[in-house]
Amino acid sequence: MGQAKLRGTPEQRKQAAIERQLSLRPKYIRCNNCQAELNEMTPMDISDIRGIEAAFMAHCPHCGHDTYAIKGEREAVAQMHMAIEDAVGAQSQAGVVPAAHRR
Ligand SMILES: [Zn+2]
Repeated sequence: MGQAKLRGTPEQRKQAAIERQLSLRPKYIRCNNCQAELNEMTPMDISDIRGIEAAFMAHCPHCGHDTYAIKGEREAVAQMHMAIEDAVGAQSQAGVVPAAHRR
C-alpha cells in the first residue's frame, strides 16, 4: 500500500487560510453604519468559499453594527455579501421594507 500524502486536516487547512488572510488584513474597517474606524476584526472561515482571498468581520462598539470586509474575485465577493445579508440582514433589518414595495 502506498502512502497517501497528507495534505493536512481540515483544521490545519482552516488555520492556514486564516494565516493567509491575516497578511491581507486591512488597517481598519470603516463601520457601515456610523463610519467609525474599527481596528479589531475577526477573520472569517473562507476555506470552503471559492474566489475569496480574505474576509473579515468587525463589530462596532459604538453602534453595535457588524461590518464585513471581503476581498477576492468580484463575483465571489458579491455572492458572499448576499449570503451574509441573507443571514444577518434578516434580523438586523427585519421590518424594513423598501419604499418601492410599499402600498
Ligand atoms: Zn458603528
